[in-house]
Formats: sequence, C-alpha cells, structure tokens
Amino acid sequence: MIIKKITVIMLVSIFFLTLCSCSVRRDNGENPVHGYIYKRVILIGVDGAGSFFEQADTPNIDKIFADGATSYNVLTSKPTISAQCWGSMLIGASASVHGLTNDYIEENKYDINSNLPTVFKRIRNQYPEAKMASYCNWNPINTGIVERNIGVSLKSNYDEALTEDIILYLRRNDPKFLFVQFDSVDGSGHTNGYGSAQHLAQINTVDSYIGKIYDYLAEKNMLEDTLFLVTADHGGTPEGNHGGNTDAEKNIFFGARGKTIIDGKIGEMNVRDTVAVVLNALGIDIPQFNIYGFSSQLPENIFKDCVVRQRQSVSASPLEHETVPTPLENSGNYITDFLDSSKLETVLFFDGNANDAMNKTLTESYREPKYYNNGYYGSCIEVGKQGYISLPNLTVGTSSFSISLWFYLDNSVSSDPALYGNKDWDSGINEGFILSLRPSDIKFNIGNGSSRSDFEYALPETISEGWINTILVVDRENNTTTFYYNFNKVATRNLNNAFIDQTFDKLSFNIGEDGTGSYNTSDTFKIDDFIFYRDVLTDNDVSLLSNYYQG
Ligand SMILES: [Zn+2]
Repeated sequence: MIIKKITVIMLVSIFFLTLCSCSVRRDNGENPVHGYIYKRVILIGVDGAGSFFEQADTPNIDKIFADGATSYNVLTSKPTISAQCWGSMLIGASASVHGLTNDYIEENKYDINSNLPTVFKRIRNQYPEAKMASYCNWNPINTGIVERNIGVSLKSNYDEALTEDIILYLRRNDPKFLFVQFDSVDGSGHTNGYGSAQHLAQINTVDSYIGKIYDYLAEKNMLEDTLFLVTADHGGTPEGNHGGNTDAEKNIFFGARGKTIIDGKIGEMNVRDTVAVVLNALGIDIPQFNIYGFSSQLPENIFKDCVVRQRQSVSASPLEHETVPTPLENSGNYITDFLDSSKLETVLFFDGNANDAMNKTLTESYREPKYYNNGYYGSCIEVGKQGYISLPNLTVGTSSFSISLWFYLDNSVSSDPALYGNKDWDSGINEGFILSLRPSDIKFNIGNGSSRSDFEYALPETISEGWINTILVVDRENNTTTFYYNFNKVATRNLNNAFIDQTFDKLSFNIGEDGTGSYNTSDTFKIDDFIFYRDVLTDNDVSLLSNYYQG
C-alpha cells in the first residue's frame, strides 16, 4: 500500500427508485423473519483488484462462483482510496460519513463508541460468544477500523503466509465471521500499472490463495452453511494510481456463493452494501437506511429467500438550489439573531462586495474576483486564480474559532487550491493553516514549521454538482478539529500535541488564496457567505445555522 490516498461525498437529492431488493422477510408486519441463516460468512477482499478479476486468469474464482451471484460493476466509495473503501465495506457508510483516511487509520483506533459500528461489532452485539477474525496484510485495517476489545482475532502477514495463518486459524476455530484482506495485488498495480500483465499475474496468484481457503472449507464439509464472498476495495489506472473516478478505479468485483444465493448477476450494488449482505446472512436485522449514517442495503438478485424491498439509490445528482436573497437585519432571520454577535467577527455575504457585515474586519480585494448573481444567498464571488479577498488584520492566535463557508462544486478543480488560510501552502509543514479544495476531498492542514496535522474529508458522494457548506471548528482547549458538510458532522479529530499553546497564524488571512496570495495559479471557484466565529460552534449552533440556510 504505497499510495493509499485521495477524495469525495455528500447530501441532498436522493432518488427513491422503485428498484426491488431482497431483504428480510416480514411475518405479520411486526417481527422480521430472516431467510436461511448461515453459520458463517467468509469475506475476502483483494486490495487494488477492482474488477480486473475479469481479465485475469482466475481458475479458483471461476470455479467458486460458477454457481454464484457476481457483478463486475459494483461501485466502490469516493475517493477510491484504501481506507475510505475498506471503511465503507466494513462500516456500511460512505467515506464522507465515516471520515476514515489512510493517515488516520494508520495512527488512530476506531472509536469503539461510534454510532457507526463496524460489521464486527454489529455481529458481536447479536452473538456475544461468536468467534470472529480479521486477517489482513495491510495492518491499519486491524488497528484502525476493527474495534478494539470486542474479541476479534487479529493477524497481519504477507499474502502467502497469511493464507497459511488462515488455514491454521480455521483448523482450530469455527468463526461466525472471517474477514481477509490481501494486499499484493495493489502493490503490483502501483508498481506496474493496474491491468498490466504483472498486475493480472498477481491476481492469479491471489486466486490460488482464495482457492486454498475455499478448498479447506470444502474438505471440512463447512461449505454447506458458509456464505463465501470475494470482493475488492478499488481498482486503479494503467499508470499505477487510484483515488480518482474512472471506471477502472471505481468498479469492483463482488462474488457471493452460498446455498441461498441466486445464480447470476447481482443488481445495483455499492461496496458499503457488503455489510447488509453479511448481516442478513447471519440473521441480524439491517439498520434503517440513512444517507448521513448507515447506508448499506441489500442488493437485488443476491439472496433467494427474501422479500422485495424498496432500494434507495445514492447516485449523485445535481443539487437543486434556487438562489434567494440574503436575510436582512431585523427580518427575524438574521445571522445575529441566533449566533452571539460578540463572537461573530467577520461575516461576508459577497452580495456585490466583500464588506464585513459586522463592521469589524478590514477586507481588501486582490486581482479581480468576480461577482455572480446566482449565489447561495444573494450573489457570490469567484476567487482563486481569478482573484481573492484578504483580511490582513484577522488573526486567529491561540483562541478557538469556527469558519463556515459555502463553495460551488463543479468538478473543475484540478490541483489543491486554498479555500482560505494564512500560511504558505507550498508546504504543509509551514506555519499557519489552510483549508484546501481538492478534486475529491477537502483537506485541512495546520503546521508550525516542524510539525503538521492533515485531515481529509471526502466530498459528499450524493452531490455531483452544486452548493456545499463547510464548517471547520478548531477547539484549542480540547486540541481538536471538527468538520461538517452541509451541517452534518463528518469527524472530530485530535490535533498534533505540538500545536498546544502555539499560534495558528503566520501570513495574512486570505479567502480564495493561501497566505502568500500567489498559490492558486490554476483553479477558480465560486464561494458564498464566509462566517468567522471566534469560538467553538456547538452542534446546536450548527443546527441553528442549518435552519438559517435550509429552513
Ligand atoms: Zn486499496
């Protein structure tokens, strides 16, 4: 896993397609009755294999799924990066909801009290005595996604040795759930290109490992009541990259074999639906669909013995927003009606100018930022390469602060322009902070010259284009940062301890540029309503802001 990194997700228009999907059967409308309940589920994920199984020589997978349900165009998470995708597969939520990134899981443990538990914890809640195991080549899955102390056997090893470890484990244990992650295919993809002869040859090698596990189960007569699943986290490009949105990166294979599995092509499916498949197979109720939370659903055409249920699509669709005027003072819905005006230090509506509505902060325009009539509220401003707004006297110091800003997502950004910040963004280690817009995520960076902290927030998956609100909360007392997309909390993260008591300032605070005013050389983007609040915006404050903007 050399380059486990990149982008996107989010809100608004959800199409309620009248697709049918298998689900739990309901008896008298009261208690859900599951179909056949499997004794165990084996889930094998091949990192970086995408849907390249189709091109590779895979005699074992061919044999296993000859009587199974398969798909070569299951959609993985955005961005197509390992932690984001494995996180979605094991948690059942989009990457902008679970908020996991490679850096994060390499250094942190998954919150055992998260309201988005992994499939392991959901199984544990139902089966306190069940044996479970996670055998991963890429150890951050074991340390940063699987909850601690819930009785999951963890092991990390190279693919070939891992296979031997798994056989040994199965000899001594009968797990209700075994998760396996092989990593060598991704390594080959990075080195040789995804889809290259070497990459396909490595898939062939891992196919033999999968065959060994399957054959062992057959030998022990365990197949009859096993649901056997094989999938991938993402694919990659011929150039050896992934993180983007091309078919080769975002399409993954999913194969299911078991006694109640339909023989044929699986219906529409997302990687996060894996959790629903596992839960259903083990007789566990699938939590209600919530695009801002658990959003795993059973695909169509996978289980024979289930009742059709409406499937909610999370396909991206343009945000439908009609520009309305900015609420006026004394209108009963003005910004100071619900937020403490003494803490509202800067409020820029960008309604034809960049004046501070609070009359506290000096603003200056550089180059030629353009104003447009179709903002979120009133008009908006186009900044970046085009021009920017400077707030030369706004310093953050060592106090807590929160910033709300709207930006218009039109997928035109090609590099990592600064939405706002006060540092030289040529290096993340430089003093000061930046909020940067990238093709598939937003990145918050803070540095002090020798240390840095970086946090990436995948863009909302359900918005392909349109206005998106961001709220960054920096809590200096607790040394944490919290980020919200469209008023939904993505994550609260700890800042590097090196920053305690250190100022977060360096250069001028600029909007639409970094502190130097010369970083955003290739991208322009539209923004609206900038709010600087000198304190922590609480969850309640954020919900008041949500009411203000969204009614
Ligand atoms: Zn990966």
